[in-house]
Formats: sequence, structure tokens, C-alpha cells
Amino acid sequence: MTGKIEARKLTKRYHVERTGRTVLALDNVDLDIREGEFLCIVGPSGCGKSTFLQMVAGLESVTDGELKIDARAVQGPGADRGVVFQSYALFPWRSVVGNIEFGLEIKGLAARERREIALRCAHSVGLKGFEDAYPNELSGGMKQRVGIARALANDPPILLMDEPFAALDAQTREMLQEEILSIWRKSNRTVLFVTHSVQEAVYLGSRIAVMSARPGRIMTIIDVDLPYPRDVTSAEFGNLMKPVYAVLKDEVLKAAREAALEPMAKASA
Ligand code: ADP
Repeated sequence: MTGKIEARKLTKRYHVERTGRTVLALDNVDLDIREGEFLCIVGPSGCGKSTFLQMVAGLESVTDGELKIDARAVQGPGADRGVVFQSYALFPWRSVVGNIEFGLEIKGLAARERREIALRCAHSVGLKGFEDAYPNELSGGMKQRVGIARALANDPPILLMDEPFAALDAQTREMLQEEILSIWRKSNRTVLFVTHSVQEAVYLGSRIAVMSARPGRIMTIIDVDLPYPRDVTSAEFGNLMKPVYAVLKDEVLKAAREAALEPMAKASA
């Protein structure tokens, strides 16, 4: 298991029952995510970033094209992929350790082994002292630490993160960015990280894929050739943000124009 992800002409259409319409979310996406890399996807809101991640996670089906992990077609979720969601998606009735243990339970591990692994993962993301707390007793940052620990519990070669820090305050976000970099650098995991923040992408990513306005396609891929830890105030950092912004700005404007025209199109339909 190496953690290589390949998308070839990957297309996703959603059928919206309520309106009877079909939404083309992704259109012929070609993307190779290399084993062990930290790939960030940026793109305007609604361009299909989450859709792509959900398909890699096996939570959304493929409409057309190919999606492979380690040369095998993705057919559903699996223990080889840990997913971290923006909304945390924790079980409110389970404690911190209970949430982290969840995937290990599905795997059929014995209670003692589960708890041992869950405790180790909880401690590795700074949750010492909160093992038996419930999600409603935790701050957003702590909840997301639980989300990360849960994704790591199976020791997956691939970590999928969907705007995991978007709902957090700036200080907490910076702390968790450091932690996720440290987790990545200590392992040889592949990380696929979706964000709408160019700064976050340049701070974290070893490469950045910029997506077009919907239907999402890959516009360009930029190598971020800066050593870690990166200095967001350095001239090199600014120089790397520029080409990403340049592509993204056009796409954001395109998305905004389409959003403005959509009500008119519906009215005249
Ligand atoms: P992003 O993550 O880039 O903001 P998404 O992947 O969430 O974009 O959405 C891409 C497009 O697909 C949007 O137009 C969105 O409304 C649509 N979409 C996403 N999920 C569904 C769904 N379950 N049913 C219908 N349309 C959807």
C-alpha cells in the first residue's frame, strides 16, 4: 500500500431529484497524486473540490472516467483512507476515545487494543486529559483534533482533508496547520487537502492543483519548492502565491458571473 491516487477523465454528475436537473460537478479531471506528497486543491466555491475528495474517499460514486488508488478502482470507503471533515462529523454520544475508536471497532479489533490505539492517537494530537470528554464539552479546535486522531487511528497511507480548518479561528488554525505538517513529515502518508485559501495551500502543500469554476477541471499544478517551516512573510512565499492567485481570480470571477446569471436563466427557462 503506497497511497498513489490517479484520476483519469474523472467526471461527476449529480441528479437533483427536486428540480429534475443534472449538475455537472467535475468534467474530465486528470490528476496524479504521488505517494507521500501533500497535495492541496484550491478553487472557487462550488467548483467540485469536495466532490473530488468525496469520490477519493469512496463516499460519492464515479459517473464517468477512472479513479484508482494504488492501481485499483475505488469502490467505496476503506481503512486505507482517513477522512477529516470541516464539520468534524463526530458522534455526540461518544466520548473522545469512543469517537477515535470507531473505525477500529468496524475493523473488529478487541476492546483493549482499540482503547490503546485510540489513547495513543488522542495523545499524539494534544488531547491528553480530554480522553473521556464528550464533543459538546470541546472547542472547535479540540473537536477537529478528535477528527484528525480518528482519521489516523487506522494508520492509513492516505489522509483526506476537506477544508478541515475553515471553521476555526486564525490562531487555532495556525496551530493545527503546524500539527498536520508535523504528522505528515513524520510519516510517508499521502495528504489530499482541500482549501479555498491560497495562503493555506502555499503554506502546507508540496504541490497545488488549481481547479476551474464549475464544472471543475484542473487548470494548473504548481510545485511549491520552499523548505518547511515556511515563512508567510517572505518574498519567496509571496512569489509563489501570485501564480495561484492569478489563475484563481479569473475562475472566481467566472463562478460569480455564472451565479449571478443563474436566476435569470431559471426565470427564462
Ligand atoms: P466545492 O467543494 O468546490 O465548494 P462541491 O464539490 O461541494 O464544491 O460542489 C460542486 C457542485 O456540485 C456545486 O454546484 C454543488 O451545488 C453540486 N453538488 C454537490 N453535492 C451535490 C449533491 N449531493 N447533489 C446535487 N448537487 C451537488
